[in-house]
Order: sequence, then C-alpha cells, then structure tokens
Amino acid sequence: MSYFKKVRVRIAPSPTGDPHVGTAYVALFNYVFAKKHGGDFLLRIEDTDQVRAKSSSEAMIMKSLRWLGIEWDEGPDKASSCGPYRQSERTAIYREHTDLLLKSKSAYHCFCTSERLDGVRAKQREAGVTTAYDRHCRDLTSGEVSANLDKNIPHVVRLKMPTSGVTSFVDEIRGVVEIENSRMDDQVLLKSDGYPTYHLANVVDDHLMKISHVIRAEEWINSTPKHVALYEAFGWERPKFAHLPLLRNADKSKISKRKNPVALTYYQRAGILPEALLNFLGNMGWNFGNDVEFFTVEEMMAKFEFKDIHLGGPVFDTVKLTWMNSHYMHKMSESKFVDYVRNEIFSTEYLKALKPFVLERMTRFEQFVGNNMFFFNGALDYSEVEIIPKGKTEADIMGMLTGLVEKLDDLYEWEHERIKAVVEAYKDELGWKPKDIFMTLRMVATGRKDSPPLFESMELIGREMTRFRFRDCAQKLAAGTGFKKTVV
Ligand code: GLU
Repeated sequence: MSYFKKVRVRIAPSPTGDPHVGTAYVALFNYVFAKKHGGDFLLRIEDTDQVRAKSSSEAMIMKSLRWLGIEWDEGPDKASSCGPYRQSERTAIYREHTDLLLKSKSAYHCFCTSERLDGVRAKQREAGVTTAYDRHCRDLTSGEVSANLDKNIPHVVRLKMPTSGVTSFVDEIRGVVEIENSRMDDQVLLKSDGYPTYHLANVVDDHLMKISHVIRAEEWINSTPKHVALYEAFGWERPKFAHLPLLRNADKSKISKRKNPVALTYYQRAGILPEALLNFLGNMGWNFGNDVEFFTVEEMMAKFEFKDIHLGGPVFDTVKLTWMNSHYMHKMSESKFVDYVRNEIFSTEYLKALKPFVLERMTRFEQFVGNNMFFFNGALDYSEVEIIPKGKTEADIMGMLTGLVEKLDDLYEWEHERIKAVVEAYKDELGWKPKDIFMTLRMVATGRKDSPPLFESMELIGREMTRFRFRDCAQKLAAGTGFKKTVV
C-alpha cells in the first residue's frame, strides 16, 4: 500500500528577496494540480540559510500569493498536523533524521577542513576531472570518529552514495531521467553549524508532510537524483516528480531582474490584475488547447495534465502580459472598476500619506491630478528633463543608477530616513558631490526638478516603483533613447 493517501503538493520558497514571479508560476501549477485532484496545497518556508533568509521576505511572499488568490491549506500561519512549516523551526527533526542515517551507516561524519577541500578541488581542476569530495573520511573507523567528536573537531555529515549503478526517476513531464552513481558526490546533509542542507531538509519535510507530487522548477532537476538517493537511504517511498520549464527573458536566458521586473509586488504596483497575471502564467509552457489563451484558474483545473506541458522555455513576455491585462481591464464590471481605482490607486491610506506633500503648489483641487502625476504613474518620460549633471557622462549616470538599485534591493524597510542613509553611504562610496547625485535622483524618481523632498517622495512612490524608475532610466540611457541629452 502506498504511503500517500491523497494528492498533497507544496511550494517551498526560500525567503531571500522579493517575491518572485517564478514562485507564483510554480505555485499556480501546484495549486491547480492539487485542487483538480481534491488534494492539499502547502506553503513551506525554506529558511535554513540563516545568512540570506529575511522575515520581511516571507511576509511579502504570503501577501503576494494572497493577492493572486492562491491560498494554501497548510502553512506557517495555518498550523496543521505536519507543522511547523518553517524549516528554521524544524532543526531538531533534521538532526534526528541525520542520526538515523548515521546509525544505518548510510551517512558519515566528515572532518575535512575547507583548506583541505579547496586543495582537493584545485588538484582535480588541474587534472581536468570533475571536482568532487574525495571521500577521505568515508572509511574512518568508529574509534577515529569518536575521538574526533570528543575533541569537538568541526564536522559535517555526508551521505554515503553508492559508487556504482545508476539512479533514475520518472519525471512526469520528461520521462525517465538517469544518472550514473559514480558521477554523484557524497553530498553534505548537515552543515558544521548543525543546520541541514537544502537536500536533507527538503526530502525529510516532503516525506513527513506526505507530499505526493513534487512539482518545482527545472533548476532543481539536478538535485533530484540526490533526493532519490536520500529516499533510498531512509527506505521511504518517493513522491512523483515534475519539473516545470524555467521562465525566460526574451533572449531565452533564465528570467532575471536585470532584463525584466521579477517581483510580484512590482506587477501589483504596476496595475496588473491578479487574474491577468495568473492567466498569463498559465500559458507558460502549458496550452489550454484549441488556441484558447484566456481562461480562469477553474477552467485550467478542468483541463490540466502534465503531458500537455512543453519544454520549450516559455518567454515571460511583458508586452503579452500587458495585452492580456488590458483584456481583463475591459472585462471588469463597473463596480469592480470603481473599487479598483478607489482602493488600489486612490486608496485612503495613500491619500493620507500624500496630504502633507501635495498641497504645496496648489490653490485649487483641479490641479491635484496634473501636479502630482508622478505619485501615481509608472514609467516616466525623461525626454524633457536634464538628468546628466555637468562633468558626468551618460555612462556615469547609468552606472550610478544600476549600482544604487542593487543597494536598494536589500532595503525592505522602505522609510525615508533609511533610504537616505543608503543613498548617502552610496554617494560617499562613489565620491560624488551631493548636488550631482541628489538632483539626478530627484529627476529620475519624480521626473521633476521641484518635487517634494527627495527621500519622502521616494518613500511615497514606493519601493517597487522607485527602483523600477531607476532601472528603467538606466536602460533608457543604455539604449540611448527616451531622455534629453543636454548636459545641465
Ligand atoms: N527552497 C527551494 C526554492 O527556493 C525549493 C525547491 C523545491 O521546490 O524543492 O525554490
């Protein structure tokens, strides 16, 4: 009898940055598959990388999925019998499971220092062979191991991979995938800080959470043989696997924020409707059939099969997304339209925050919209403003903006004092004069020389749109179009 009693799927994002369109894409296909089969959809937060994990990122992932209407049945904020659903709260479970593997001799302690490992890799590179752990500690005697442990020598735990034979699994989309065991490394399961690696935590959790189908992005397919080896080592029934094709930029490279906005929060701010984004994502690699492009999530559920997924590398084409969005905008009922404009564009909260800044040059309310467009618009037109100060080149401005966006990417608490601190530090790092950097940023962020105070404006325009405008301006400069060339 199978271990799996019902369809249970999950998404397992790592909360390390902005909520990514790729997460929404994988979530949609998991959700559709689960609901089609009357199953459960789980949200698990893979936050064992303590250096990179951010709690604000977890909150944004949840908010963005809810904005899309993809609701989970179990998750960090919806406790159920398989919890906790945050990996950082499950470390004892991973240690127990590592002990099980050590006991059954499927895993071993490795005391090699990073210097030794670097040396091994350097030699392998010199010899032109694939770099891998040389299994130095695999056959230590139990006496040697206990002596090292007694001396508190830092160590990791590695999986004892079979050295011959093949590991294979069936991918529901690709068919059989095989890899020779001799090509697989003795992967680390538990790191020297006692935290699990992705592989261990992912497999233990998928098993304990009774995940019947692992539906994830193609970038994880190389990890799957390692996971299969772990299922074997534990003696557990493995789930079914399906790896969705990666979303791509127009040039077919893996989707990246350098070429396309990738944050769900950006698309929300840019006025893309959730149903349009879901419909667009549903067309990524999957076809409804009969040339039908517009469909709801419910309609997708009725027709969805793994076999209809194409591996061609779907392009995340923002022009197409925008076109689909306009279709949904036109289909809106009168009341939905009014609600959207009121709640999303002129929300009470936003208007209250704007009040201290927007009355400055106004004597009549008829000026409100015209005077304050930059608080509501998306991309700005730089053809009439002078964004390049004397003594600076287009390349300087492009580089400055691109570098600043990277700094701001890490600023989640979007508050004017904090923004100011980041910009000031960056200015010092570059060695630029205040007026050069501040005037340029003001014009790029607001399109105007005489906007309300710069950092307050950036706060109000919002994290998404401010960063978008900086990136957009850098791209326009790179393309040499859409801005005024005069040097001020
Ligand atoms: N934590 C991985 C991620 O960030 C999970 C991959 C998987 O679904 O196994 O996507």
